[in-house]
Order: sequence, then structure tokens, then C-alpha cells
Amino acid sequence: MSANNREILVRLDHVTRAYGQGERRFIAVKDINLEIYTGEFVALLGPSGCGKSTLLRMITGLIAPTEGTVYYRGRPVTGVNPYATMVFQSFALYPWLTVRDNVALALEARGEPPVVRRERAEKLIDLVGMDGFESAYPRELSGGMRQKVGFARALAVEPELLCLDEPFSALDVLSAEALRGELLELWTGGQLPIRAVLMVSHNIEEAISMADRIVVMGTQPGHIVAEFSIDLPHPRQRKDLAFEALVDRIYGAIAGHTEPEAKEVGTAPGAPGPTRILPASSVPALAGMLEHINQGKGRHDLYKLDDELGIEMDALLQTVEMAEMLGFAQVESGDIQITPLGQTFAEASILTRKEIFASRVRRLPMIQWLMNMLKAVPEHTLPWKVFHAALSLEFPPDLAERQLDIAIGWGRYAELIDYDDRGETLSLDPSQGRVAEPVR
Ligand code: ADP
Ligand code: MG
Repeated sequence: MSANNREILVRLDHVTRAYGQGERRFIAVKDINLEIYTGEFVALLGPSGCGKSTLLRMITGLIAPTEGTVYYRGRPVTGVNPYATMVFQSFALYPWLTVRDNVALALEARGEPPVVRRERAEKLIDLVGMDGFESAYPRELSGGMRQKVGFARALAVEPELLCLDEPFSALDVLSAEALRGELLELWTGGQLPIRAVLMVSHNIEEAISMADRIVVMGTQPGHIVAEFSIDLPHPRQRKDLAFEALVDRIYGAIAGHTEPEAKEVGTAPGAPGPTRILPASSVPALAGMLEHINQGKGRHDLYKLDDELGIEMDALLQTVEMAEMLGFAQVESGDIQITPLGQTFAEASILTRKEIFASRVRRLPMIQWLMNMLKAVPEHTLPWKVFHAALSLEFPPDLAERQLDIAIGWGRYAELIDYDDRGETLSLDPSQGRVAEPVR
């Protein structure tokens, strides 16, 4: 599907979900903003407990958010979402029904006559590669086959959005691989009415081999860490250099993340809470410092660094803060420790560095605020003065100016925003306009 007739299918708007009450109240996911477009296969990736299943349950309407709203095609989801179905790790088939009847059962709720149900069920069974097993009972099938029947049953209701919660993790390696291939073929072949797939996974390679976009989550509480678009052609080869490079980068994003986002990056200008000041440093300074630390043991005495790098302590601390804010390093009792993400960045090519940097910087409230302002106007261009005036409400004018300079510098490097020196205008980088704005 081409990028310019994409619509937003699902939108999570500041979604928080807590479980339990009183002292046992526990925030599973916090302040999640996420959009899923038609034509997209999105994978949610993250460590156990980061709230992947919770997000899926809210999108399918099995549970409601505690705060915020889930929208489906622009309407708030209240109660079970009729346009979405979910496939779980192990599908509960009815042991006393044949394969055909297990699938046909899903059609009963739609009030189709028995003959139609039977025909449709047989077509789907064929589609998932279970032709010839229509009259078999679940006990006669292997785990992989049962999961295929599960898929057929999920597809029977012709969902627009197919949600998969670790659908392959209960299968042996070979069955999982075969079923992945079959699902991809169904999806890319366009034989299904499905408009989008959202798959939870904790397997980086699985996500890269299947998805168009990977959303990486972190824990405590569950939040989004970074996003990666995957535009490798199908079928994807795991031994491919580009594939392997992606594995490294995504691994870095998962391992490199430590702090909850709000704590790490602060809030946006104009929002409640303090706007976090961006440290006065630049990408070259950041790269220089990370490369230096990475050449050693990955851990370094902070107090030695200024001399070694030949810079003032003040400047160094700003760069250290930048590294911390972006998840590239952590400081503890006078030592600076590079994170796996920082290490990936230090060792990456210029292009990959830009991408890693962009995926981190895009999540900073100050940058989001800049981009959202630009997205909201025609031509995606605004005078520099507009931003300066807005920031001057929170900061003294000279600090506002310096903050804006820093934000522009970072945004330009990440190819998120452009600055035109002569017109003194800011605009959305052309690459951003296309991706971020669905054309209706
Ligand atoms: P994931 O699918 O990423 O492993 P979940 O969404 O299942 O994560 O869970 C996120 C967090 O919420 C976990 O810490 C889990 O223990 C907790 N949790 C999930 N469901 C419930 C529930 N029904 N009651 C209490 N806590 C829950
Ligand atoms: Mg789960």
C-alpha cells in the first residue's frame, strides 16, 4: 500500500493503564502515544512486563485505559472493538469440535447460515495451509497446526485489525518459522480484508523479519522507548548485513534504556510540569565523548575526561547530560558508563548514527513540541520568532534563544527539522512531512 492513502486506524492518546487498587495499585503502562496506520504491520517489542499485552487488550477493547483514550478510526473505543481480533500464544480450540467446526463457530455470531459458514470455514482452512484436515480433531494436530486453526478462526470474522500476542512463542522453532512465513504470505499477498497487523513479540529477529515498523517498549512503568521503520524487502534474510545491523540497533535501544521517559526527558513547553532545559551541547561533542569512552573499558572516571578530551569541565558536563538524556550513558558515583545504545552509536556509520539519534531525539518533549507546531501549519513552516516568543513565556529571552538554537541543532542533525538562515524560518524536514502526516 502506498504511503499517501494511509489512514490512522488506531490512535492511543496519552494512554495510561493501572491495575489494582489502593496500595496494590500498579501502573502497567504510562502516557502512551501511538498511531497505527492502514497498510502497516507493526511489532511491539520489549522485555516481559513492559505492558505489551496490556496495550493489545486496550486496543481490542478487552480492558479500558485508566487515563487517556484509545481511538479506532477516530472514535473512542468503548467495550469490545468489533473491528479487531486477537490471536494468543496458544489458541483454545474446542476439543470436541472438528477443525472445520472450530473455525465455523466464529462465524455463528455473525448470523451467517450454516452452508455459508461451512464454505467460508473451508476456504480459510485452505488459506492457512490446513487443507485436508477439515474433519480432524484438535488432539490429532501438532501445536503448529492448532495455531494455524487458531489463525483461521481469528480471520473468519474478517477483522480490519489483526492483533497477535506472541503468536509463535508456544511453538517449536520449525513450526514457528513455517507459520511466520504463512502469515506473511497472507498479509503481503493481500488476500485478506485485514488493513493492519499489530504483533507483540519479545523476539527481535522475529519482529524485524515481519514488521514494517517496530515500537520498542521499556518497563517501570511501561512506555515507548524508540521506533524503527524496517524497509527491507521481503523475504528478509537474517544473515543479511542490513538485517544484522538492525538487530544490533534495536538490541541497543532495548538494553540502553533505563529511566522512565518523563523523568528522563521532562515535559514539553506549555505543558504542566517543568520544561526540561536541553543541555548546551552538540552531536560532534557527544560523538567525540562516546567514542573516547567506548575505546576504553566503557566505564570512565568523569574527572579525568575533561583533560583527556581537552575541554572545560562545564562543557563536558553538558555533553554528559546530553548523553544521559538520550540514553547513551549513565553517571554513577563519579563514573560515566556507556550504555549498549551509546556503544552502538559510537561504533555506527554516520547514517546509522543519524537514525539512532533521530529515534531518541524525536521523543524529547521540546523536539516534539517544535515538530507538532510545524505539522499543524500549512507548508509546515513557521518563523523562528514564533518559537522564541513561546519559549520566552517559560525562560528568560536569552535562555529561550539558546534553547531554541540547541533544539534546532539537534533536530537538523536528526533530519527532523530544517532551519532557513535567510528567512529565519523553521520547517519540517521533507522526510518527516511525508511520514508523519497521513493524507486523507
Ligand atoms: P507484557 O505483555 O509486556 O509482558 P503485560 O501487559 O502482561 O506485559 O503486563 C504489564 C504489567 O502489568 C506486568 O507487571 C504485569 O504483572 C501487570 N499486570 C498485567 N495484568 C495484570 C492484572 N490483571 N492485574 C495486575 N497486574 C497485571
Ligand atoms: Mg504479554
